[in-house]
Amino acid sequence: MATVAYIEGFEKLRLLDAAIDQSRHSVLITDADLDDGPRIVYVNAGFEQMTGYAADEVLGETPRLLQGPRTSRVILDRLRAALSAGETFDGEVINYRKDGSTYVVRSYISPVYAEEAPERVTHYVSLQQDVTDERARDEQLRLLSTAVEVSGDPVLITDPEGTITYVNAAFEELMGYSRSEVLGENPRRFKSGRQDDAFYQGMWRALERGESFRGEFLNRRRDGSLIHLEQTITPVLDDHGKISHYVALGKDVTDRLRMEDEIRRVAHTDWLTGVANRLSLGNTLEAEIERSQRYGRPLSLIMFDLDHFKAVNDQYGHEAGDEVLKALAQTVSAELRDADTLGRWGGEEFIIVVPETRLVGATALAEKLRQAVSTMSVPGVPGVTASFGVAELASGDSAKLLARRADEAMYQAKQAGRDRVVAL
Ligand code: GH3
Ligand code: MG
Ligand code: MG
Repeated sequence: MATVAYIEGFEKLRLLDAAIDQSRHSVLITDADLDDGPRIVYVNAGFEQMTGYAADEVLGETPRLLQGPRTSRVILDRLRAALSAGETFDGEVINYRKDGSTYVVRSYISPVYAEEAPERVTHYVSLQQDVTDERARDEQLRLLSTAVEVSGDPVLITDPEGTITYVNAAFEELMGYSRSEVLGENPRRFKSGRQDDAFYQGMWRALERGESFRGEFLNRRRDGSLIHLEQTITPVLDDHGKISHYVALGKDVTDRLRMEDEIRRVAHTDWLTGVANRLSLGNTLEAEIERSQRYGRPLSLIMFDLDHFKAVNDQYGHEAGDEVLKALAQTVSAELRDADTLGRWGGEEFIIVVPETRLVGATALAEKLRQAVSTMSVPGVPGVTASFGVAELASGDSAKLLARRADEAMYQAKQAGRDRVVAL
């Protein structure tokens, strides 16, 4: 074992002097004359560097030369009180350098007592640390965390294991959970179960690569209701490049999606009868023809038009006519399967796309509809009838050709005396 040679006497003094001199903290020693002083009796190189003063410019001066208008009087009073009472002081003030610039300094000041009279203070030793950058960072942090806290959009932060360490007020408001209910929990508790595993796997793959993930999350609130969140999750790396947190920034897009759905619905719906409009009917017909041709399945089309409808309008008014159209759409819809699509093709002319059905089946359906229409009752209007044309998709038919054949069949039904079904 090595022998330790403890330093003592002059050697100790010399080494401590070197240590203090090289310290990057500022060291300042004053006498204990609190009335007109105290006077500075020693400063180290750290002090010179921190303040811009050379030692010989401050020796004999009081530390007040470091103070200025922004130096807190309250803290200085506390300092004076502590020193008068022989206590140590630990506090922060704004000081002024020689060039007038300011810095925030944290001072630890303690009294040094006389060797021969332990109750008499002879000096004060002040150790000072420039905490300007730290305080600026604290301030920045305070501002940022306030911004996050008051943000109208939800923010959630987890540790690398996915344990929630922070949620802001908007999150609480939106999701209906209080902070204490979710801290320490895993965000999977917000899953609605309506999104497949592939979605979450894709998210984790991106995050594990250290990339942000942006996606539309369908989550569940505390009360069970669903919420669409457009969310960006970003991994935050520590100094060693390891993931220390995940930050999720969300935006509630439930209303936007609802509005988009509504716009889509309106764009595809006939305003009067609520059935598919011509645009939507055209899309459905094209899609069903393609499907039918690809899989070799049958497909039929029924076209119908009210008989002598002009007379109804003329005698009972256009509004009564509208009521007839609404009732007609309702009556016909009630007879159809989910797979069938009823749409308004023109004024009082409708088309039904009937998948998986041959001409004979579609004709039977049309006959059933004809009877339903002829027995339908609309208040204030006598019974109406309609004429039906039926056609089945033949190989190589386009939507146009098929519709033309159904139209031709319907024309023949009109010619033959109306209130009947003709199949072609
Ligand atoms: P037909 O038996 O030959 O079909 O005779 P029709 O009188 O029904 O003749 P047509 O089919 O040509 O008549 C179309 C009429 O339908 C014209 C118009 O008064 C009426 N109509 C078209 N669209 C509307 C609508 O949105 N509301 C109302 N009330 N009437 C409509
Ligand atoms: Mg008509
Ligand atoms: Mg017509």
